[in-house]
Amino acid sequence: MSPPVLLILLVSLLQAQGTPPPSPLTLVSRDGRRPIPTTMVGGQELIALDEVAALFQVAVREDRLAGGLTLTYRGRTILVSTDQPMASVGGRVVALPSAPVRSGQRWLVPVEFLPRALGPIYDVRIDLRRPSRLLLVGDVRVPRVTARIDAAGPPTRATIEISPAAPVTVTAEAGRVVVRVDADALDLGLPTGGGGLIDQIRGGDQPTAVAVVLAGRAGPARAVPSEAGGITRVAVEVAPAAAADAAPAPAAPAPAPPPAPAVAALLFAPRPALQTIVIDPGHGGDDLGARGAGGTEEKRITLEVARRLRALIETRLGVRVILTREDDRRVSLDDRAAVANNNKADLFLSLHLNAAPVSDVAGAEVFHLRLDDEGEEARRAAETEAVSLPVLGGAERTLDVIRWDLAQARHVETSAALAAMLGEELRGHIPMAARPRQEAPLRVLTGVNMPAALIEMAYLTNEEQERRAQSDAFQNAVAQGIYGAVLRFRSHLEARRQP
Ligand SMILES: [Zn+2]
Repeated sequence: MSPPVLLILLVSLLQAQGTPPPSPLTLVSRDGRRPIPTTMVGGQELIALDEVAALFQVAVREDRLAGGLTLTYRGRTILVSTDQPMASVGGRVVALPSAPVRSGQRWLVPVEFLPRALGPIYDVRIDLRRPSRLLLVGDVRVPRVTARIDAAGPPTRATIEISPAAPVTVTAEAGRVVVRVDADALDLGLPTGGGGLIDQIRGGDQPTAVAVVLAGRAGPARAVPSEAGGITRVAVEVAPAAAADAAPAPAAPAPAPPPAPAVAALLFAPRPALQTIVIDPGHGGDDLGARGAGGTEEKRITLEVARRLRALIETRLGVRVILTREDDRRVSLDDRAAVANNNKADLFLSLHLNAAPVSDVAGAEVFHLRLDDEGEEARRAAETEAVSLPVLGGAERTLDVIRWDLAQARHVETSAALAAMLGEELRGHIPMAARPRQEAPLRVLTGVNMPAALIEMAYLTNEEQERRAQSDAFQNAVAQGIYGAVLRFRSHLEARRQP
C-alpha cells in the first residue's frame, strides 16, 4: 500500500468516525429512553441513515444515478439529495443544515433531518430539543423545569417549578435534596450558580431528577411540594447549621484535618403517604372467573396485568407491592382482604375482567364501595366500636380495631376519589364503558381497611375485547393507566396532609 493511498484511507476513516458529541442525544418515547449514536463532523451533528432505518422502521435505498437517497415509511417517501442540503418530503422541499455525508458504506444526515424531513410523514410527533439533548418521539411527558434561589435569608429559599404539573417525590440525601419528577424526561432550564446555603441546582443522577446541592455550612432543609395553576412547585428552605456545629474548632498545632464531608443533618418529609400497595389479581385456581368465547380466562389476564403493574410501580416509585396471589391458585375473598390488612397497605386494587349476557357490551369500569343508609349507620358505629380485625394466622392484633365487615366504611370518600382518578387515567389508555365509574357493595372491598377500588378492565364476552385482552399492548396499557392513577392518588394523599 503506497503512502498516498494510506493517507486517503486515514482521512476517510477520520471522516467516518468524526468526533462524539459533547453529550449524547437521547431518544425519549413511551417505550423508554435510549441514547442515539451521533457523530460530529464539520460542526454538524450527524446520524447514520441505517440507524434512522432501525430506529424508525424506515426503508432506505440509494439511487446513485440520480444522486439521491429514497426513504420509505408506510408508503410515504422522502427524497434526500446527496449533494445539496435539502430533502423532498411528500413533494415539499425542506432545508437541512448540511448535505448528507458518506462514510464508507453508510450515509450520515444532520440530526435535524429527523424532525424536519421524517417528522412530517411519521405517525407520531418527532421533536428535537437540542439544548436539553433530547429527541422526543410521540406523546411523551417532558415538563420544563426552572428554579430560582432567594439567598436574602437565612434561611436560603429556593423554588423549583415544573410545568406542566407532574407528580414529584422529594427525598433527602447526603448534602442534597433530590426532586424526582414523574415524567419521561425533563427539559431543564436551571440557574448556573448557587446562592446562600445552596451551592447549585442541577440535573440529578437520574434523567428525571433535579438535585439541590447544599453548601457545607447548611443545616436542616425542608421541602414542600404543591400544585396550583397547572404548575408543580417545590419550595425548599435551608437553615444554617446549628451554632454549636458551626463554631470553628480551636486552633490546633497539628495539620488541619481534611474538610468534613458535607453531610447536613436533614430533617425531612414525613413518612411517605404511599408505602405499600396490595394488588389483587381476581379469581385463580378452579375459580376461572369470566370466560370469553375464545377460551380466554379472566384469572390468567388478571395475574398477568398484576405482575406488569407491580413491576411498573416497584421500579418507578420504589413502593412495596404485594400480590394477593403470585400464581394460579384459589384465594378466598376474606384472605385477599387479610393480606392487605396484615400488611397495613395504603392502597388496595382488585383486578378483574367482566362478562355480560350480550356480546356488544364493552369497556372498562371502576368500582368503589357505596354506603347505603345501613352502611352509613355502620360507619358511625365503626368509629366507636372496638372489635379486632382478623389477621392471617390468627395472631392477635390490637392496632386496628374496626369491624371486619365494615373496614372499608371509613375510607369511602377517599376510595371514591381514587376511583375517579382510575377512571380518568384509564381513559387515556383503554376503551371505557358508558358508565366508567360505579358504586357497588363489592364483597372483596368491604373488608379492606384502606382506600380501595376494583377495576374491570374489559368484557371477555365481547369478541374484540377478548382478543385485545390477551395482547401485551392492552395489558401494558391497563398497567400504565392504573400506574398514572396511583401517582395522582399519592399526590392527593400528600396534598391532603399538608397543613
Ligand atoms: Zn372477576
